[in-house]
Amino acid sequence: MVPTKLRVAVIGAGAAGLCAARHILASSETFAPPVVFESSDRLGGTWIYTEEKEDATGRIIHSSMYRDLRTNLPKESMAFPDFPFDPSLPSFLHHSDVLAYLDSYAEQSGVCDHIRFQWQVEEVRPIQRDSGSLDAWEITATVQHPESTQQVTEHFDAIMVCTGHYTVPFIPPIPGLDTFQGRLLHSHSYRYPEPFANQSVVLVGAGPSGVDLALQLSNVAAQVVLSHKRQHVCGLPKDVIQVPPLLKVEQKTVVFTDGSKMPADVLILCTGYKYSFPFLDLAQLGLQETDYGVGPLYQHLLPPQHPSLFLIGLCQQICPFPHFYCQVLFALAVLSGRCALPSVTDMEAEVQRQLGLHLKNGGLARYFLKMREQQWSYMEDLAHLAGFPPVPPTVQQIYEDTHASRLCNVSTYRSRNYRLLGPSAWELVQDGVRI
Ligand code: FAD
Repeated sequence: MVPTKLRVAVIGAGAAGLCAARHILASSETFAPPVVFESSDRLGGTWIYTEEKEDATGRIIHSSMYRDLRTNLPKESMAFPDFPFDPSLPSFLHHSDVLAYLDSYAEQSGVCDHIRFQWQVEEVRPIQRDSGSLDAWEITATVQHPESTQQVTEHFDAIMVCTGHYTVPFIPPIPGLDTFQGRLLHSHSYRYPEPFANQSVVLVGAGPSGVDLALQLSNVAAQVVLSHKRQHVCGLPKDVIQVPPLLKVEQKTVVFTDGSKMPADVLILCTGYKYSFPFLDLAQLGLQETDYGVGPLYQHLLPPQHPSLFLIGLCQQICPFPHFYCQVLFALAVLSGRCALPSVTDMEAEVQRQLGLHLKNGGLARYFLKMREQQWSYMEDLAHLAGFPPVPPTVQQIYEDTHASRLCNVSTYRSRNYRLLGPSAWELVQDGVRI
């Protein structure tokens, strides 16, 4: 009897979903062509820039991209290990170059034919099979036709959830926020600096968005204040005032934890995003919401009780595309039987062990998925377990160089240009010449 090929559903056609689809297609001896569900009408997810932030019904439009964004990682660390960016581009790219890259990644992998645009997944349910077999899955999706919508249900052997986590704004519980009489927004809704000309703007949070917005707004706003808990952000223009975290809001005045106060026309919350899986019944999967998002997930990736569902790309402070690549190849090795998983009990115990270690090393529970320097051994472990070549050392070397140079100066680090000389060698260049 010819064994039937596994049918995998991929939810989302952003970078992670495209990567999943590409490698499923490339493993056609084991897998049927993927079915990629994409709720929007275009591939690219985060990298699709639109001026609108909500659609006509008030529903948040997916992307948090802003007009003038340039990448905070150089293309040499950012690329999928099996698909380099155009070598003629500078290292730090405008967002439109990344979207073009994803377009050609999808095109050249043959993935486009397998994406169902305007199919929004509403529900994913496990179907128990005989003991010893992995669960099957039932997906219900709403299909948008020009004049109507329709609900469709289909069955799959495995699911890759690739829905991203930079869409649903996290609004911290700041006392008095609802009394604010100026303009209040989240960085998700920021598009360009012009509407803030001559305004007094307070930015809350000094993550990548907070710092970027401070740089952009300092050119047009009357005053830019960056309120944050980091030590000091080096390299911001002198007219950006750095102050301690926000304590409370009193109508038009913002008060900081050191007791200082300031009037503000605009308050922009650069306070990050929430994980959201409205189509999953977490309890049914043996999962729950945790301080850090959702768990327990073995290898930050799969629910031990249902190891044919994979949540790709939940970790933060990573090189996203290489990270997705490793997670996808690991997931496919598990599904094809090339990589055996420990027992459910052992996987759950392993997650607890790792969380315990993180806490013992002084980490806060809510930062369990923030990987930074741990991302390298994590990707190496996945490669080792699943038997694929690890990502080239230059990914780490150039990432670390960028990280150090961003710490020194957030205004200038994007002027660096790297040139790859091999899997573990690179140099800095200017106008094509080594410096
Ligand atoms: P997304 O790109 O969010 O894609 C998810 C897709 O799933 C979307 O297309 C969405 O429509 C679809 N979807 C969601 N729900 C459903 C559903 N129920 N049914 C069907 N489809 C659904 N990374 C870098 O490497 N370098 C950078 O410089 C960088 N800068 C960034 C700047 C900003 C402002 C932001 C927000 C992120 C940045 N990132 C950067 C991180 C970036 O998000 C990742 O690189 C990556 O693009 C995320 O891909 P993803 O596929 O996980 O998610």
